[in-house]
Amino acid sequence: MQPITNHLPTAELQALDAAHHIHPFTTQSELAGKGARVITGARGVMLRDSEGQEILDAMAGLWCVNIGYGRDELAEAAARQMRELPYYNTFFQTTHVPAIALSAKLAELAPGNLNHVFYAGSGSEANDTNLRMVRTYWAERGKPEKQVVISRWNAYHGSSVGSGSLGGMKGMHAQGGLPIPGIEHVDQPNWWAEGGDMSPEEFGLERARQLEAKIDEIGEDRVAAFIAEPVQGAGGVIVAPDSYWPEVMRICRERDILFIADEVICGFGRTGEWFGSQTLDLTPDIMTIAKGLSSGYQPIGASIVSDAVAEVIGNCEFNHGYTYSGHPVACAVALENLRILEEEKIVDRVREDTGPYLRQKFEALTDHPMVGEAKIVGMMGSLALTPDKSARAPFAADAGTVGFMTRERCFANNLIMRHVGDRMIISPPLVISKTEIDTLIDRAWRSLDEGMAAVKEAGLWQAG
Ligand SMILES: *Cc1c(COP(=O)(O)O)cnc(C)c1O
Repeated sequence: MQPITNHLPTAELQALDAAHHIHPFTTQSELAGKGARVITGARGVMLRDSEGQEILDAMAGLWCVNIGYGRDELAEAAARQMRELPYYNTFFQTTHVPAIALSAKLAELAPGNLNHVFYAGSGSEANDTNLRMVRTYWAERGKPEKQVVISRWNAYHGSSVGSGSLGGMKGMHAQGGLPIPGIEHVDQPNWWAEGGDMSPEEFGLERARQLEAKIDEIGEDRVAAFIAEPVQGAGGVIVAPDSYWPEVMRICRERDILFIADEVICGFGRTGEWFGSQTLDLTPDIMTIAKGLSSGYQPIGASIVSDAVAEVIGNCEFNHGYTYSGHPVACAVALENLRILEEEKIVDRVREDTGPYLRQKFEALTDHPMVGEAKIVGMMGSLALTPDKSARAPFAADAGTVGFMTRERCFANNLIMRHVGDRMIISPPLVISKTEIDTLIDRAWRSLDEGMAAVKEAGLWQAG
């Protein structure tokens, strides 16, 4: 990759960044002190920073660069579309070729009767759409009191007022008056942290049945929908016990509520099928998509909606839409991304070849003294850090202290791995090769070693 050499020196870039750029989910004053890492280019699974370092991106940006960085075909698709029709909207009975083609393609890829697409600019916007859509659906069906949406604690559904309320991140709810009314939460199926003495299977059933109890408490005639990620991503790659999802599906069907699968991370091959709902045998009425839809090359999200829901919504004027709903450049780039995923059989490779290889190597990280469990589905995985594996004990320090220390070691070893509390997570580009997987695992092991040494030195190697 050609390094960009004509930029300002790193220290000057960092000073300008600190002076004028407010970062998401960041304590700005702390970052200003140390300076942000400046990323200048990328190819495949590797990033390059302003100091010329090559960094293995085991998070695919924010879980989104499924086909890897640097694919010229997407740049060409964007340039072609910008020359032909850079923008037009899809309001007021108009449409354009990229939105038509992408909708037809998504209907073909999506399972079951999910055949209709409503576009947004992001996953957050798409979940805002879903909130209004399910409420409108029940109102149009003569049940306007069915308005409550049930979600899960520690879920992530976006950062807007609506989607942040749907999510179950307490730190987000603490700022800006969230959640808005009409949203309720049940506990997550995180056996490692919350399973106590129950077996994973018993615990999975207990957590699923919380949904049933919550519906009873609110009243079935007041509940519109349940929303969940097939595998919780930003919550720490939490994989539910096998008993969980069949029970949740039973409850949604028996109780006549809609099920929204938030596939923003799980979609487009991440779990080894096109959608997480296929891997986990879920039958959603609506799927939220974004991220891997364009591999992050353009901002675009959408709701893929069932025939039944689309028919009801289609009979009213749904007073909702975004200026960039179905943006032609974003749609053209997404289509090209889907073509590459399909023609290069990237999803099949994750399912049959590189995914199983990564699983084997990743699960072997439980041999490390600080790793209690490794969970992985396709190419999203997490490690639980613990000072006492058999007790599944947390550290005596505040949650996230050890995770952060370990992440800092990853950064120093040119590996982007994230921490959520004291879970370390990966979600690499789906095109990662076996050699690159070996590099990822080597760097992860070294970072765990160095992290553990730092934890011991700080006197934090104790169960809390
Ligand atoms: C990232 C994410 C979102 C929000 O998408 P944005 O494009 O950041 O608005 C929603 N749901 C899930 C599961 C996500 O991971």
